[in-house]
Amino acid sequence: MSTIIDISLPIHPAMPIYPGNQKTEFNRITKPSGSQLTNITFDSHAGTHIDGPSHAGLSDGTDSFSLELFYGPCRVVEGLGTDLIAKEALDQLGIGSGERILFKTDNSLRGYDEFYETWTALSSEAAAYLAQQKVKLVGIDWFGIKQKGAPDNGAHTELLSVGIPILEGINLSKVASGTYTLVALPLAYQGLDGAHTRAVLIKE
Ligand SMILES: [Zn+2]
Repeated sequence: MSTIIDISLPIHPAMPIYPGNQKTEFNRITKPSGSQLTNITFDSHAGTHIDGPSHAGLSDGTDSFSLELFYGPCRVVEGLGTDLIAKEALDQLGIGSGERILFKTDNSLRGYDEFYETWTALSSEAAAYLAQQKVKLVGIDWFGIKQKGAPDNGAHTELLSVGIPILEGINLSKVASGTYTLVALPLAYQGLDGAHTRAVLIKE
């Protein structure tokens, strides 16, 4: 029997948000008929989401990605260092063409109740290596794949410039390293830099 592990962050007004970004708001409206609706205001990179090419200054949105990239085998890897994951840490993994790689770091251990100013991120060299290996998707267990405020945006550009989506804001605290089936289809926003997704791992 297969088990579905939810690796998505809950979406609600008190959810942690990257500083300076739009806060998540739910405004409930009751129509004269009595039916209830909610106006939702949030940032395209709030919670669990996919980064699209235009997030790195390129022209395409998340809708340019083939949905096939977001469904299929993936590998959760961990223990590759703190602060910044170096390219050298990836050499031992034997990453091959077509893999989906999710990085579980110490970010998963402290939880997602608040926004921490520092986190373990991917180095530009590591991102360039993953692009060279022609992976299908890269994910990380925090809101950003690069360090906050770092002028070098290589972790984004190396991947997005060759059409590799980045899955950010996944909670891997309950996930052991190993192989799973990933399902993380982006919502069908047209031409946007980011798209929310309900991301799950399926363990057979
Ligand atoms: Zn993002």
